[in-house]
Amino acid sequence: MPTALRTLQKNASEFFDEIHKHHSKEMQCGKGCSACCYTDLHIFESEAIEIVEYINSLPQEERTKLISSFRSPPPGKDPTGRIQPPCSFLNKNQECVIYPARPLICRTQGAPLLFKLEESKKKKTDSIDHCPLNFKNKLPDRAHWIQLDRMNQLLSIAEKDYQIKEKQLILDSIKDSNERISLKKLKKWITQNNE
Ligand code: SF4
Repeated sequence: MPTALRTLQKNASEFFDEIHKHHSKEMQCGKGCSACCYTDLHIFESEAIEIVEYINSLPQEERTKLISSFRSPPPGKDPTGRIQPPCSFLNKNQECVIYPARPLICRTQGAPLLFKLEESKKKKTDSIDHCPLNFKNKLPDRAHWIQLDRMNQLLSIAEKDYQIKEKQLILDSIKDSNERISLKKLKKWITQNNE
């Protein structure tokens, strides 16, 4: 039985594919582009556990290969030439080494993201963001925008549904004050626990 998180991840990936199918000419996203992977994301605990479980489920040889790829990261320059630290899970070939278990936000990057921007304590306005490599001339119809706030609400609900209690001890040590987990710290934790 898939968890609510896995269902949400699957739905997000399918919606992204649908957007890409209709707008492939206006989108750079695809194998070899890692422009949105030059960042240190902070993810939900359930997502971190999915990543740990994914790595643990790999055959020994593959797991060892994945962990050793941590020692040769890509250069600190994104594909547009900006100097930026890469995500801890990006390898030297610009590939995501945890792709099947990547967090929800990674499944939506590249699509237009709609969110509420707080202008003041009382006023919030709609704002739209997307990768600068995509949609240079025209945005797609609103039906092909991703509602970021709604997605995060669903992620919070999925987090509650997750059987975290018996698993959380493993990650307590690396949680930030805002209860999120940095991918950088997660990689360090995984490396230490696979030595
Ligand atoms: S987890 Fe994977 S897809 Fe997400 S930012 Fe890191 S390398 Fe990119």
